[in-house]
Amino acid sequence: GTTIGILGGGQLGRMLVLAGTNLGYRFVTLDPAPDSPCGQVSEQIRAAYDDEHAARELARQCDVITYEFENVDAGVAALLEQESSVPQGSNLLYTTQHRLREKRSIEAAGVPVAPYREISSATDLVQAVAELGVPCVLKTTVGGYDGKGQVVIRQPEEAVAAYEQLAASGAELVLEQFIRFRCEISVIVARSTNGEAKAFPPAENIHVNNILHTSIVPARVPESVQEEARRLAVAVAESLGAVGLLAVEMFVAENGQLYVNELAPRPHNSGHYTMEGCATSQFEQHIRAICGLPLGSTKLLNPVVMVNVLGEHLEDVVQRFIQPDAEAERLNVVPKLHLYGKSEAKPGRKMGHINLLCQDAEQALEWIDQTNIWGNK
Ligand code: ATP
Ligand code: MG
Ligand code: MG
Repeated sequence: GTTIGILGGGQLGRMLVLAGTNLGYRFVTLDPAPDSPCGQVSEQIRAAYDDEHAARELARQCDVITYEFENVDAGVAALLEQESSVPQGSNLLYTTQHRLREKRSIEAAGVPVAPYREISSATDLVQAVAELGVPCVLKTTVGGYDGKGQVVIRQPEEAVAAYEQLAASGAELVLEQFIRFRCEISVIVARSTNGEAKAFPPAENIHVNNILHTSIVPARVPESVQEEARRLAVAVAESLGAVGLLAVEMFVAENGQLYVNELAPRPHNSGHYTMEGCATSQFEQHIRAICGLPLGSTKLLNPVVMVNVLGEHLEDVVQRFIQPDAEAERLNVVPKLHLYGKSEAKPGRKMGHINLLCQDAEQALEWIDQTNIWGNK
């Protein structure tokens, strides 16, 4: 049998393991945590992600290696490629680890991004703000997530303070024009080692405090926009020569025009709806793609709304699920709970998610409202 190694032992890795185990693969994960979500479902090498000795051991034990986060150490990535097989390649990581490289690669695919400027000094920034206009967003080129490492500039006078705030990190910066979007969507596309590519239906994403809160599928945009979004995602994946999953986040502007915001070369939170929503989950699709199996159908089986369960929601969610749910019956929604097996429920920490299968997304949204779990907490 084939053994698959995963760099990282978080929930994305865990769901890859669960999907891939059903396909007959064996898994070894590399993660420093004694209680990682993957540790409960796979063998684990317990070491830091940048520990070259541990990475070599992972390569020795595995036929194929993948990763569940994009900030993989470049040295480790090169080592793994040399000592084992990393179908995704290190180039995809190199590109998606850095916002400027990422934007250039999207443009090279003929796909629009928000107008942007490279920023290396406060003077650059003042000039770029004048060129792009306000509001605009200053971001670090590396290491940002959940909105960390970015500042919105609403007035030209705010530029210097914004620069000082982010330049302290020492990273290069990029300034983007602020897109007044109608909504945000994402498309998960898979491309296999054989070059076959398939995109899942777009999810409409709602963020709260810069953390994904809900994904609604089908996205509430015209069919033509959904089609275009899938086409753009496939174009980016093909132009990059990506293998495995690529999550493509986009803004839908008021006029329906699409701009790609950022990429992630891995399973994505906004693709969790596929677990029950689609004929194939994003996790199974990733395993298929990196192992050279034919890709599965991405058909949407029914409308679905995904809501994240953060630390502050966990207790109420568990209470809700051990009792009959008359409200779900009334609204004709079927809530499917996925917990990640994390021990400490800290506020803001992703502990699980719920896929609400429904006939109409509005009813699933009403269920979320009625529970009072995701209220003002
Ligand atoms: P993630 O957790 O998705 O990796 P991140 O920290 O990498 O997030 P982005 O996705 O770049 O950051 O931005 C976070 C959010 O900020 C976006 O989802 C969007 O709501 C808003 N945003 C970012 N850039 C822009 C922009 N150019 N125009 C309008 N809104 C923006
Ligand atoms: Mg990001
Ligand atoms: Mg994002």
